[in-house]
Formats: sequence, C-alpha cells, structure tokens
Amino acid sequence: TSSIFAAVELAPRDPILGLNEAFNADTRPFKVNLGVGVYSDDNGKIPLLAAVKAAEKARVDAMLPRGYQPIEGPAAYDSAVQNLLFGADSELISAGRVVTAQALGGTGALKIGADFLKRLNPESKVYISNPSWENHRALFESAGFEVENYPYYDAATRGVDFAGMKSFLQSLAAGSVIVLHACCHNPTGADLSDAQWAEVVEVCRAQGLVPFLDMAYQGFADGIDADAVAVRLFSASGLQFFVSSSFSKSFSLYGERVGALSIVTASKEETGRVLSQLKRVIRTNYSNPPIHGAAMVAAVLSSPELRQQWEDELAGMRDRIRAMRTGLVDAIKAQGVEQDFSFVAQQRGMFSYTGLTAAQVEVLRSEFGIYAVSTGRICLAALNSKNLPYVAEAIAKVVKG
Ligand code: PLP
Repeated sequence: TSSIFAAVELAPRDPILGLNEAFNADTRPFKVNLGVGVYSDDNGKIPLLAAVKAAEKARVDAMLPRGYQPIEGPAAYDSAVQNLLFGADSELISAGRVVTAQALGGTGALKIGADFLKRLNPESKVYISNPSWENHRALFESAGFEVENYPYYDAATRGVDFAGMKSFLQSLAAGSVIVLHACCHNPTGADLSDAQWAEVVEVCRAQGLVPFLDMAYQGFADGIDADAVAVRLFSASGLQFFVSSSFSKSFSLYGERVGALSIVTASKEETGRVLSQLKRVIRTNYSNPPIHGAAMVAAVLSSPELRQQWEDELAGMRDRIRAMRTGLVDAIKAQGVEQDFSFVAQQRGMFSYTGLTAAQVEVLRSEFGIYAVSTGRICLAALNSKNLPYVAEAIAKVVKG
C-alpha cells in the first residue's frame, strides 16, 4: 500500500534560509553572511540586551507558576505596546479605540490580522509594496487573499517611486487592504518622507482603503517616536487601521516570538466587538500566547530604569548600523570605485538594496565567501569593524569588474 504522503511535492526552499544553510556549510574562515535579517554586535554576535537580562533574571528568580495567559495577552504587555506605537499620551488609547493582542512575533501579528480581515472583508484584495518582505505575499495568500504589488522602489533613484505609488493607490477599489512598511523598509531601506506619509493617509481616506502598517523595526531608523510617524499620522486621521509590531529586533528577542497586533477602531464600543472576534481567531490558531518573552518586554517597559537602559541600548544598535552604512560607503570610495554608493548611507534600518546584480552577488559568494541575497539586498547590521574593510574591498573588486 502506498503512503498517504506519496503525492506530497517537495516545497521550494526558503531563499534566505537556504542562503544560511549554504553559509554554514562554507568552510572558508573569512566568510561573511550579509543575507540574514538579524542585528549582530561588533563581535558578530546577536546581543542579549542588559535590560532584558535584568528583567529575565528577576523573572527566573521569582519562579512563577505557568498558568494560561489571556487570549489577547496580559494587559500590562498590551498597554506597553500601545504606548510605544501610539504615544503614551495618545487620545486613541484614552478613548478606548485601540484593540491590542499579543502575537507570535510580527509574523504572528500579520497572520491573525490577515485571518481577521478575511472574515471581515472576504472579497478584498491585498496590496504589498514592490518589492516587499518576502513573507508578506505568502502570509496574506495563505489567509485566502489575492495579493498584488503596488509600485514602490525606484531602482534609478534608489528611492521610492512616490508618484507611481500614489497614483496606483488612487486607482484601488474601496476596501482594498494596503500593507505599508511603517519604517525601515525591508528589503530596500527606502522609506517615505513624513510629508509623503501624510499624502498616503489622505489617499487611504479618499479611496476607503484599509491600511495595514507593519512596524518591525521601531527605533532602528531615527528613534522610537520618530519612527512611529506613520502610525501617529494615521492615528490623527480618524481612520481605522491595523498595526503589526515586533520586538524581535528592537529587543533582540528573535526566537522568543514577541509581537502584537493593534487595531484602531471608531469607538470603544466597536473595540469590544472587534476584540471579541480577534480572540476567536487567536483561540482557533494557538489558543493563547506564550508567557516569557512578553513578560520581559512588559517588565522592561514598565520600569523607568530598565526602560532607559533599553532606550540607550536601542540607540546603540541604531548608531552602530549608521556607522556601518557610512563606513561602507567611505571604504568603497577609498578603493577608487567611481560608482556612487552614497545612497547606502541615506537608506534606513537594517537593509540596503545595493544595486549589486545577481551575477555580482554570485561572485561575492564564490570568490570572497560573502553571502548576500541575489536581489542585491545586504544586511548592514551584519557588518562590523572587523569584516567591513574586507567586504568593502570585495564589493569594490566586483563592481570594477
Ligand atoms: N515584517 C517585516 C517587514 C520584517 O522584516 C519582519 C522580519 O524580518 C517581520 C515582519 C517579522 O518579524 P518577526 O520575526 O517578529 O516575526
């Protein structure tokens, strides 16, 4: 008798995880992995933040029982999330217009948001930026949506094709879901200006679109409040919208899976109804969220000392990435490269679309042991004072041909 799995096809490998496997198998000692989306410190290690360490130690020492959490996560965590996203003095929060549920990282937040939206607007289409984080499309498709791209990156200017994006959004049907990177666009590093965000808000209002902001890197560009400008502009607009957020990067808690989905409603009464439906989505996915990571985040954010320590550590990560950006630009230039790479210093967050071609990326890997995504995306947070000169030299050789 044949196996019940006989007809199962082998799924394609995740391109970025595949890159990691190839990197791990590479025995060259000088190899550098610029493909991954994690922040490493100057020693090439994922940091355990001191504020997190302190909160974790206190928690472990307390030896607490492990009961179930509320379906939407604990109130202390949800409220800490709201304060970061909307601002501690937000009128939306005081009016009870925000639903927040703890989620399994930013990915889990997108997933419960997508599942909820599918029940709400089953006929809507979802639009993601071209290009976008590679999981956006798959996530919304797996929730049952048809997903299309909106114009975003302009390779010629290495910035945003804002005219193209805006006119495209103006052509969309009411109820269309539009996924927006709130800051630190992944993969390009190209963000909208504050004035452009204000225009996007107005287009969403005029067209009756459903904005879904994905905030995976709050604090990695200019600071906690500065990076929330899109969320704050939508907040002031009176519109309803979704925000997925993540502490994977900002707290360096990748594997703990700590994130949240927030939904801004029209009233406190609506909040109650929306929360009740969101809880059904969560209940039928994983029942209720895990305790540990969110408890540490809530502890850090509710202690003035730990919060200050975290903000300092977050600023340290942000500043280090910036230093790597300018350092890379300068070092490539110092190699006598004529091609202008100064845009790398203007891009924001962990990533850059370098403009390196797939063929150049391949040479970087085969000849220099430097791994990047074939689109030319590199992670600046994987550079450090030791590997930067080597990477700059290799890029210089590759672009000079
Ligand atoms: N959204 C974007 C744009 C991302 O870049 C990422 C992570 O790479 C995520 C969401 C998911 O974050 P998490 O690891 O918290 O699920």
